[in-house]
Amino acid sequence: MNIDYQSCITEIYNETRSLIGQGKVANYIPALAEVNPECYGIAIATLTGEIYKIGNADIEFSIQSISKVFLFARVFKVLGDELWTRVDREPSGSAFNSLVQLESENGIPRNPFINAGALVATDCLLSFCKNPIEDILYFARNLADNQKIHYDSRIVNSERATGFRNAALVNFMKSFGNIHNDIDSILDAYFHQCGIMMNCVDLAKSFLFLVNGGINSFNDEQILTRSQTKRANALMQTCGFYDESGEFAFCVGLPGKSGVGGGIVAIIPGLLAICVWAPELNSHGNSLVGMRALELFTTKTGISIF
Ligand code: GLN
Repeated sequence: MNIDYQSCITEIYNETRSLIGQGKVANYIPALAEVNPECYGIAIATLTGEIYKIGNADIEFSIQSISKVFLFARVFKVLGDELWTRVDREPSGSAFNSLVQLESENGIPRNPFINAGALVATDCLLSFCKNPIEDILYFARNLADNQKIHYDSRIVNSERATGFRNAALVNFMKSFGNIHNDIDSILDAYFHQCGIMMNCVDLAKSFLFLVNGGINSFNDEQILTRSQTKRANALMQTCGFYDESGEFAFCVGLPGKSGVGGGIVAIIPGLLAICVWAPELNSHGNSLVGMRALELFTTKTGISIF
């Protein structure tokens, strides 16, 4: 397959720019609401080491729920299948911060990529890790091969100041016995994860281990086994976009993960990772332009996992 990725993303960028203005930037905290809605970047990182990029691919943004993939990989690596006693692996069909299913499902979140699931995964991280806030940041830095990746304290503090629903989720799960550590420490680590700052190039590079059978190609570390990687990718496919996961599979046909900062990362196993950032969201909390750009990417290139 000989695809000119640079021309492809340039075409997509030009064709989709006109969609800017149709979505809404996340506005639950000032630090996200102030982002320039016209920002738009795309980056591709291939397994063979090439980077292709266009637009604002070097501007850092709040990765928000994309961090749930790093957290999941970190915890799955240590706990293995024991993790499934604490969190399920079914799509939720509900919003990312929904409480409804937890009541009838005894405090077991549907999957690790909704807030409830990530809060349980954070609880697991705290059980084996003395310094969870540093740990996840270093984990992301190593995956992206960029030691400058950092937290934005303004975002972290605003997440904390407005995080009533996340506090409700973690308290509710504690009432079912599915939370073992101090609630404030779990929330603090979770809010930090939302405030990790990365750009499109960093994010595309950081997902390459999922393209590469679980191996971080920058330092040869085996992050997940091949079988665990297959499972991580299956989870991204079925649960990576909250109640729009089916639509993403239908339109794009790749495993991926979104965040309310407007980033989406998707992967093609064995080939590449692609990140799109455009901060305006659709009604499901996913980047409106990002969804369309990725749909065009698989349509124009003809690559899909299906
Ligand atoms: N900070 C958001 C929250 O925890 C992250 C959610 C997201 O990106 N979908 O509610």
